Amino acid sequence: MLVQQIYIHGRYADCASGQTYEDINPANNRLLTNVQLAGLDDLEKAVKSALEGFKIWSAMTGTQRAKILMNAVRILRERNDELAELETQDTGKPIQETIAVDVASGADCIEYFAGVAPTIRGYHVDLGNAFGYTRREPLGVCAGIGAWNYPIQIACWKSAMALACGNSLIYKPAPSTPLTTFKLAEIFTEAGLPDGVFNVLTGDAEVGSGLASHRNIEKVSLTGSTATGRKVLEAAAGTIKHVTMELGGKSPLIIFEDADIDNAVSAAMMANFYSGGEICTNGTRVFVHESIKEKFVKQLVERTLKLNVGDPMDPETQVGALISLDHMEKVLDYINKGVESGARLLCGGNRVQVAGCEDGAFVEPTIFDECTNDMLICQDEIFGPVLSLLTFKDESEVIKTANDTEYGLAAGVFTQDIKRGHRVIAKLEAGTCWINNYNLNPIELTIGGYKQSGIGHENGPEAINFYTQVKSVYVELGDVDCPYE
Ligand code: NAD
Repeated sequence: MLVQQIYIHGRYADCASGQTYEDINPANNRLLTNVQLAGLDDLEKAVKSALEGFKIWSAMTGTQRAKILMNAVRILRERNDELAELETQDTGKPIQETIAVDVASGADCIEYFAGVAPTIRGYHVDLGNAFGYTRREPLGVCAGIGAWNYPIQIACWKSAMALACGNSLIYKPAPSTPLTTFKLAEIFTEAGLPDGVFNVLTGDAEVGSGLASHRNIEKVSLTGSTATGRKVLEAAAGTIKHVTMELGGKSPLIIFEDADIDNAVSAAMMANFYSGGEICTNGTRVFVHESIKEKFVKQLVERTLKLNVGDPMDPETQVGALISLDHMEKVLDYINKGVESGARLLCGGNRVQVAGCEDGAFVEPTIFDECTNDMLICQDEIFGPVLSLLTFKDESEVIKTANDTEYGLAAGVFTQDIKRGHRVIAKLEAGTCWINNYNLNPIELTIGGYKQSGIGHENGPEAINFYTQVKSVYVELGDVDCPYE
């Protein structure tokens, strides 16, 4: 079996230690491939290469950079199905999702920022007998650290923003899902990206923390849990690095009495069972108005029971495997704790045995009713297919309870009343909000968390603020007005 090497300076390389670890397919618990484990020596090589790459890349015009990024977009789209298959094997996500969304969303983001690259500019201001202008400059070598739930998408998103702004990027995928990121590195090289502009290191906390603390790395962008975010911030503090933190969530989805119930049920299911519930923005606390509760819950349970849990490679499968058996145990433990704390299990709650995937990490889509916001299942990020139902009577009460969490990543509201929709959204402490839909993330709209869900923004026009720095230049046209004469 081939061993997955690391990727430095436009080609594969062996890591210094020669150590490897196993990358497992969570749908059958079988070995996919052995992966080399990068260490701090490899990090030094990657930084040296990224500094060289940065010199060439940052000297190009935005239009030149855009052409290369667009080449990468074309190749990504051509290889969509092959990459989707690899992603499904590495993550356990249903192939119908990875084919339709994961690679496509990555390519869309690179396309969007290829369009942005030639437009990055400063401004000019007249100052009497002087003028001023600003330069928006790249930061230098940036580091990206990714989570395992959307591996190719996160790698594309972070590289799109960093590279469009003229930076080089050293990217560390999550250890359990590195494979498609290496394909992205190959694609960038094929597209004409100068060597060193996109390097990939494997590894976990040691390399991650090495990236966050390195004196020649100007920025670190993490997509991961809030606990890891705290550690990365500590590691980055020593060099006062620029940081972007895309962290965890425990988001509310509020269904008012005038909501279109069919659509609200669809959204609640998408907000909890899509991608096996392993989505940071998921609306895992579903608040339903007491007057429509019975009708809503009946439909929700009926439709959830029909979901097809199965082999992720089967195009009919709607809910695939979780990321690992360990993670499955964690999710099942939360379900037990939900029962112990008095929540009523309406459906699901068990591991699923899937024919042909007997050792896979499958959990039934699970719905709890009679939840209260102080229960562990309503405060902790479970990151699995577990939906908690809460009942409310009035608007101010539900806003207060919805905001009663340390997180602030996302929120959704279902109502036909346009005034109420906007009024409630304005009071919710969340970075991404939906009215009458859930979990759509077009690249044009920026994302970022409130409270302990993050710092900074990705995607949309705001993103360039986090991958460039601004230099103000004052130009004198007259004499120096010196008070010392
Ligand atoms: P994680 O925090 O365990 O790991 C994320 C990344 O950080 C991995 O690459 C990991 O190797 C690395 N890492 C771990 N310890 C580190 C350290 N001390 N220093 C530097 N790097 C370190 O997260 P995960 O389990 O891979 O992913 C799930 C989490 O990611 C969830 O909390 C989810 O909400 C979050 N997430 C957030 C977003 C968002 O946009 N806000 C998107 C996807 C996932």
